Amino acid sequence: MNPSVFRTASRHFQSANRLCRASAASRNASVRGYATAFNWEDPLVTSDLYTEEELAIQDTARQYCQERLLPRVLDAYRNENYDRQILTEMGELGLLGASIEGYGCAGVSTVASGLITKEVERVDSGYRSGMSVQSSLAMTAIHDFGTQELKDRLLPDLAKGKLAGCFGLTEPNHGSDPGSMETVAREHPTKKGYYLLSGTKTWITNSPISDIMIVWAKLQTTGKIRGFVVERSQCPPGTMETPAIKNKTALRASITGMIQLDDCPVPAENMFPEVQGLAGPFTCLNSARLGIAFGAMGALEDCLSRARTYALERKQFKGNPLAKYQLIQKKLADAATDAAYGTLAATQVARLKDAGKCTPEMISMVKRQNCDRALANSRMYASPFSCLLCLRHDIFYKTLG
Ligand SMILES: Cc1cc2nc3c(=O)[nH]c(=O)nc-3n(C[C@H](O)[C@H](O)[C@H](O)COP(=O)(O)OP(=O)(O)OC[C@H]3O[C@@H](n4cnc5c(N)ncnc54)[C@H](O)[C@@H]3O)c2cc1C
Repeated sequence: MNPSVFRTASRHFQSANRLCRASAASRNASVRGYATAFNWEDPLVTSDLYTEEELAIQDTARQYCQERLLPRVLDAYRNENYDRQILTEMGELGLLGASIEGYGCAGVSTVASGLITKEVERVDSGYRSGMSVQSSLAMTAIHDFGTQELKDRLLPDLAKGKLAGCFGLTEPNHGSDPGSMETVAREHPTKKGYYLLSGTKTWITNSPISDIMIVWAKLQTTGKIRGFVVERSQCPPGTMETPAIKNKTALRASITGMIQLDDCPVPAENMFPEVQGLAGPFTCLNSARLGIAFGAMGALEDCLSRARTYALERKQFKGNPLAKYQLIQKKLADAATDAAYGTLAATQVARLKDAGKCTPEMISMVKRQNCDRALANSRMYASPFSCLLCLRHDIFYKTLG
């Protein structure tokens, strides 16, 4: 385990222990199998399914996100101002590529990694997007498919947030249908051991700030999709540009851009040696999608918490709090139920993944369901709690993840 995340997590073991003891005490105090208290923040006591280490890691992530990310998000969202320093801070805490073993990564369980994502998205979906792309897309691609030299050289600095990474699959003419991509890699006509990459990727999270770009392109000789690690520092001027895409209507706290390649020379060693076709990008996207399943529940829990506070404090009709009315209570109960079910389902799929029993269909199912529920509930809150729509507008784009 990464020493920094372990040290920070250790500081929270005590409180995690207290939590466990408290839940054991409430079990002892139960009468005929019923606990004495209902916790609306964890209605199905999902926390009982987590190890002490996982609870401590969640605690560390929550503390960082609430203390360091939350104060920045309003400005970031309003002004589309992504602070690059965030990746460095996350790297120092061991939050990047957290489930990867070795290379300076934390090597935690998929559940712990999901809980980190949940805490980040509790603050903002754009921040989660930036972290997911670095961890699940750029780092996982290098870890799962890269040569040993690429792993040794790049993963430790990506884990620390010293290098920023992105993942270029989508193209202007091919989004849902990446198999039709036009970006091509052809052998360099004069420089042996090099490919020339040409084409355009768009809607690429982190691209304007990235040092390392995973680019999926068709090999001219075979027509097969291959993955390339494009290093900004190695690209001659004029061969690679990453203009930002401004004026997004959501995910504004993340930075998004293009990757424009014009005969950009890339060493043959930077091509992933084994993986061919869409199996490469889809493996990475599966990892990111499971994170989104957790993240969406963090965003939903945040909506629920804000709506609950508002409904309790806002007094209407003869001075009654809105929460007194059953139509409002139903909306809160629906969201609490969806958040609890969704977190349980994501936890189960993450456990199965660590046990080698997970299928991509399970990830698609839990990601689709959790995004749908987060979206439906946030839309529902938009009517009685119109202020919340503005606060969590980011959820509306989550289904694109
Ligand atoms: C903020 C943001 C960040 C992103 N980050 C990245 C990134 O880091 N890397 C990356 O590679 N990509 C990224 N993307 C791209 C994203 O993955 C694509 O937007 C997505 O794949 C959809 O492609 P498209 O936008 O071209 O939509 P289109 O393919 O044009 O689809 C338009 C609509 O048609 C629907 N549709 C498409 N095909 C079908 C079908 N067969 N049946 C029914 N409906 C269909 C789609 O669901 C969609 O609603 C990002 C996008 C956004 C908005």
